[in-house]
Amino acid sequence: SKPLLEVKDLKIYFPIKKGIRQKVASHVKAVDGVSFTINEGETLGLVGESGCGKSTTGRGVAQLLKTTEGKVLFQGESLQELSVKEMRSRRKDMQLVFQDPYASLNPRLTVEQILAEPLKAHGVERNKRRKLMEDIMEVCGLNKNYLHRYAHEFSGGQRQRIGIARALILKPKLIIADEPVAALDVSIQAQILNLLKDLQEGFGLTYLFISHDLSVVQHLCNRVAVMYLGRIVEIGEADKIFEKRLHPYTESLIDAIPISNPRKRKERIILQGDVPSPVDPPKGCAFVGRCPKVMAHCHTERPELMEHSDGHHVACHLYSLENKSVEVSSCSES
Ligand code: SF4
Ligand code: MG
Repeated sequence: SKPLLEVKDLKIYFPIKKGIRQKVASHVKAVDGVSFTINEGETLGLVGESGCGKSTTGRGVAQLLKTTEGKVLFQGESLQELSVKEMRSRRKDMQLVFQDPYASLNPRLTVEQILAEPLKAHGVERNKRRKLMEDIMEVCGLNKNYLHRYAHEFSGGQRQRIGIARALILKPKLIIADEPVAALDVSIQAQILNLLKDLQEGFGLTYLFISHDLSVVQHLCNRVAVMYLGRIVEIGEADKIFEKRLHPYTESLIDAIPISNPRKRKERIILQGDVPSPVDPPKGCAFVGRCPKVMAHCHTERPELMEHSDGHHVACHLYSLENKSVEVSSCSES
């Protein structure tokens, strides 16, 4: 299958202004050179702790905030080069589902008003709207009698179904889902994840699925990209990421997944400290302050993302050629 979305060396910097003249003193490098591709019908999970730049990446892809550098190609077309009007028409094919269904749906609107809004915005005639609304409610597991009820009358899970229905009503190709189950009770999470999976099959959807929780992406994603401090540190097939994770950060995230049998836990990495500031990131590897496997040159040299094995890329000196040659030379000396 062909790529639906290609993100090339995307950078999103936010200026920090200082002083009376509001000169730009420095930048928050929220996204600092991110590249990935998502093929049609595929799900890419974008994972990492909060503050790693996942949501900013998602919003940058959707052109909801200004990108500083790099390219976002959607169906081969560079989105940054489109006019506002052209982008508005592309938005039909690219929809977002947000984390908090309480915040993202206006509680004073009825379900009908919520679902009609995108239809109106994209010029769907009034007499066709009702049928589209009822159809999308049905596939999202909502009773069509709910159309006249207000968003505030619903539970979190039902609200997220309304949010998903709103995102899907224009039959988009790409859904950017930013922590779509993080605000929901655990018992409801699986229902919403199953719904997203069914909808993907039914509509041939492509997902960029953003989550801080690896257990959530595990069963939904074909590929996983792990972000740390504005960069991708590991990307590959989901199976490989879970079985043969390479980056110590990925390892710590996987170790944080609760498992039923605690005896399976041997040398578990427990993350200490916080993500460093993107204003003044470490010079070498960004993970240096928290990494249990840190080496001397990790402090000075930034590891680049390199292919380790088929389609599995990692940015860590443990796998870089220089480090391998260090190992070889130290072996031959002894
Ligand atoms: Fe740890 Fe060094 Fe690898 Fe960074 S480059 S993750 S500090 S071993
Ligand atoms: Mg976020």
